[in-house]
Amino acid sequence: MIDPRTELSCERTDLAALDPGCFEVLAEDGPARAGRLWTAHGPVDTPCFMPVGTYGAIKGLDPRELEAMGAQVILGNAYHLAHRPGAAVVAGQGGLHRFGGWHRPILTDSGGFQVFSLRGLQRIDDDGVDYRTHFDGSAHRMTPESVLTVQAQLGSDICMVLDHCPPGDGSPAQIRVAVDRTTRWAERATLARSRILTPGQLCFGIVQGGVDLELRREHLAAIAALPFDGLALGGLSVGEPPASMHATMRAIAPMMPRERPRYVMGIGMPIDLLVAIDSGVDMFDCVLPSRNARNGQLFTSAGKVNIKRAEHREDRRPVDEDCGCSTCARFSRAYLRHLHAQGDPLYGRLATVHNLHFFLALVAQLRLALRRGRYREVAAAFWTRFGEAAGPG
Ligand SMILES: [Zn+2]
Repeated sequence: MIDPRTELSCERTDLAALDPGCFEVLAEDGPARAGRLWTAHGPVDTPCFMPVGTYGAIKGLDPRELEAMGAQVILGNAYHLAHRPGAAVVAGQGGLHRFGGWHRPILTDSGGFQVFSLRGLQRIDDDGVDYRTHFDGSAHRMTPESVLTVQAQLGSDICMVLDHCPPGDGSPAQIRVAVDRTTRWAERATLARSRILTPGQLCFGIVQGGVDLELRREHLAAIAALPFDGLALGGLSVGEPPASMHATMRAIAPMMPRERPRYVMGIGMPIDLLVAIDSGVDMFDCVLPSRNARNGQLFTSAGKVNIKRAEHREDRRPVDEDCGCSTCARFSRAYLRHLHAQGDPLYGRLATVHNLHFFLALVAQLRLALRRGRYREVAAAFWTRFGEAAGPG
């Protein structure tokens, strides 16, 4: 494995800063591409995996550890932060960067996805959503404008619009309603952003449409016509078969405007990242590496390892002999299993470092390969490694 730290340090020398929102395509191979997006907190080299820190921190990790492993952007969630500790509290602390001690770019999700997941706790109309929080049941209202206000208070570099995310098993009629409503909300967001967001904050639009390719194309045309700084595919990895998700990415991502960054929200497994990059997607996030780490599931170049299993009780090997992370450099599987069994919080930290490093290194290697004109051979090696376990797709 190439250590993403090495690659980042060589990419970031002698860069003249461009205005936030500038996006350069630096290399292409078929639909796949490497680029650089500029934000108010510096550049993001793409393709880029974004670790998820719902409350503004990756659970158990010091932001200095994230920097050291080459994380460029972290993801926060406006819904969670609006209620815990409160957007005004974060604003009073100087914004999310200063509050959390993370000085690189932050992308915040609007929180719409979370609110639409509160089954039985929300009521949607064309103006917005009434909901009760899962924290204390208190009643609130979310609109296309209010989610931008929260993200302005948080001071995120990339703000996401409010979209209507239908359930993964939604009927065609439900998906149609969600698409039309998302377009109207996107139009309202573009009208409101100049008075709500601060200069330099970027705003991304979201394309819905389930796995109906015709509807996706139609919605992409509508959202791409609006002056967003980047475009995202939402409503994927919400319960549809992986093959359908992959087919949607392969069909739609190459049709997204070339001159703007492309983001697929909430994916995924290593194979999903391979398909996304191969389809020309620039950015992706997933809670999987950190959440699964805490549950005992570790990703390796030879497949997944369940550290809780008895077979690791006396295993002196690191989690992954090919891994360059600080956990694998020092600790054995037997020790990690022991920490997990004892309920020691150190386990979650060491395991999260490994899993995030694994995802960051995977994407960094493909990014570097694109820029060196070696994408086909590097991608083929990963495909052999991760493709077989993924089933059809
Ligand atoms: Zn490792």
